[in-house]
Amino acid sequence: MRYLTEREQIVTVFKLMEERNLNYGYSGNVSVKVSEGEYLISPSGVRKASMKPEDVLLVNERGEVLEGVGRPSVELPLHIAVYKSRPDLGAIIHAHPIYATVLGVLREDLEPVVEELAIYVGGKVKVADYAIFGSQELADNVVRALGDRSAVIMANHGVLTCGRDVMEAFDVLVCVERAAQIYVLARAAGVPNKLPRETIEAEVALYRLRRGGGARG
Ligand SMILES: [Zn+2]
Repeated sequence: MRYLTEREQIVTVFKLMEERNLNYGYSGNVSVKVSEGEYLISPSGVRKASMKPEDVLLVNERGEVLEGVGRPSVELPLHIAVYKSRPDLGAIIHAHPIYATVLGVLREDLEPVVEELAIYVGGKVKVADYAIFGSQELADNVVRALGDRSAVIMANHGVLTCGRDVMEAFDVLVCVERAAQIYVLARAAGVPNKLPRETIEAEVALYRLRRGGGARG
């Protein structure tokens, strides 16, 4: 079985997401780009926290299964569209965390209201326009809203985060969900204050520096 390390990373990240209430049950999907035009992706119809490395499927960019048994995630077209628009990426996570999805239901972008968010994401987290799950329209909407950043909220659905590897995409997911929780609670308690513009600009510059110029900007 090829790419055992990457398969194990995908299995591990689903367990971490379930433990931290960032995803649950059969929902969510994770992929890794293993070479040009070849990707590992989680299967559909499987309880994700119980997945084994051999359950992960190797597919090409036409969605054909090269190794493994089962059907790839219905969001495979979404993952492939994001990889095609962003050659800097090595991994993508799609999950259903609560607070970021609250903003997706409100269709409200998550501004960088706390330190760190813009360092991890490269700016605000935009809400991609709604389209039904698994559709090319959803893929197009997510690519447009993502731009050169590392996270996007999918209207009435969940989030997509990305990075050079799975753990980087996971760290972005944790950061986004924490910031969304803080923002939603702050709004419920009063009127949130914004970070100074210069702080956000400095953090975006740091994001681009850390990404080694790989992210387009
Ligand atoms: Zn989903």
